[in-house]
Amino acid sequence: MEDLVEELRKSLKQVLVYLQKEDLALIEKAYEYASYAHSYQLRASGEPYLVHCVSVAKNLAELKIDPATITAALLHDILEDTLVTEHELIKEFGEEVVSLVKGVTKLNKYQFQDNITEQAENWRKMLLAVVKDIRVIIIKLADRLHNMRTIKFLAPDKQKSISQESLTLYAPFAHRLGIYKWKSELEDLAFEILHPQQYNTIRTQWQKRAESNTENLKEVEEQLKEKLAGTKFPCRISARPKNLYGIYKKMERQNKPFSAIEDLFGLRIITDTVENCYAILSIINSNFKLVEGSFTDYINLPKSNMYQSLHMTIISDKGVIVETQVRTEEMHSRAEYGIAAHWRYKKRVEAIKSIKEDAKDSVTEDRLDWLKKFLEWQRETTDSKEFLTTLKTECDFEQIFVFTPKKKVIKLPYGATALDFAYAVHSDIGDTCMGAKVNDKMVPIDTKLKTGDVCEILVRKNIKPSKNWLEFAITAQARSRIRRYLREHPKKEI
Ligand code: MN
Repeated sequence: MEDLVEELRKSLKQVLVYLQKEDLALIEKAYEYASYAHSYQLRASGEPYLVHCVSVAKNLAELKIDPATITAALLHDILEDTLVTEHELIKEFGEEVVSLVKGVTKLNKYQFQDNITEQAENWRKMLLAVVKDIRVIIIKLADRLHNMRTIKFLAPDKQKSISQESLTLYAPFAHRLGIYKWKSELEDLAFEILHPQQYNTIRTQWQKRAESNTENLKEVEEQLKEKLAGTKFPCRISARPKNLYGIYKKMERQNKPFSAIEDLFGLRIITDTVENCYAILSIINSNFKLVEGSFTDYINLPKSNMYQSLHMTIISDKGVIVETQVRTEEMHSRAEYGIAAHWRYKKRVEAIKSIKEDAKDSVTEDRLDWLKKFLEWQRETTDSKEFLTTLKTECDFEQIFVFTPKKKVIKLPYGATALDFAYAVHSDIGDTCMGAKVNDKMVPIDTKLKTGDVCEILVRKNIKPSKNWLEFAITAQARSRIRRYLREHPKKEI
């Protein structure tokens, strides 16, 4: 057991090489402190409790996050589980670290609830805490990730309820923050617990396909390399598997068997600049056929979580179909680590000086903007189920991009209707929406939109929101506005 802790400590140190000496000293001190404070405590796995603290810190170190967050991660359960007081902790580690630890401790009070009302209330409180300091929820996600990795030591019913919450809320939340790596892992871990049979079937089939597919993929990769070798664009190509839960969802959504899912593997081309992304695109275009309609430019139109890449599905000479992404190193880092990647690309000195300012920094601000709006919209919602479903819709989206007649882009969640679009343009337009013209065709307001549609909303003054609108409005913005109207204008009983 001692060896295990020592090994973990070493591997944490290895990940932390991006930090400077004085930061490492504080982290080292937190390690010793946690080791002492938790010394008699064990995990459900029988391992020393410290294993958990170090693992959470290591998850965060992999995001190359700021030193205060790593220090807080090592100490994150200390106020809750040991006799150490807040006062003592401030004396040793300072206000910033302790406020993070306190934030996480507070979140822990909102433990998982089967009761939907309490669960909604917990999430509402959690989100309010997140708006204050995003790092608190990032520590919480790292904590949840380690708890999910070790979930098999818990009682079966607990495994199920924690997995359910991870799948429906934590994973989407990680997705919304753009931490794709954690999102996929949380999903697959929860998927295994909740649907063991489907999980195992897909995994077995996936492995079989992987073996037979490697050759095809290699061939396309070679072809690509050959075409790019003669150019001056620096790039690296890597293969990219889809996560198992993603495959399962796709099978469900498209009602297809595993054998009909084409894009299990893809290729990713990573280069240095945006210009070179487009240069590589043009090389691909002149050497490969693309599947019609498969090209999406997420560089010009980033997703709300700031994801950027060029997407296309190419067909090789031999007819092999491969989903391909082209992006820069920075986009790649952001795609994998999301909001946390922000710290990676700051200059070292700056990063150390301005951790506090980071919270106010415009990139972070952008990413939290949706959350602030969401909480604003949901302030009056007393319906817990409504709160949780709209939170899920807002987080867990395939996004679509729809244009106004003046070519302004409106981002909407997958499944959004013309009415959602109307509310996204302006709430008054939503309230008086009578129909829409999509790509110059008249359509009813419950029409589902898709990327690339040009949508014009038709309004009429005497139109008022009605209850049945809730059957097809899916965005938080539209739903809260409609509900408010209905509340303020109750139907007169006859
Ligand atoms: Mn913990």
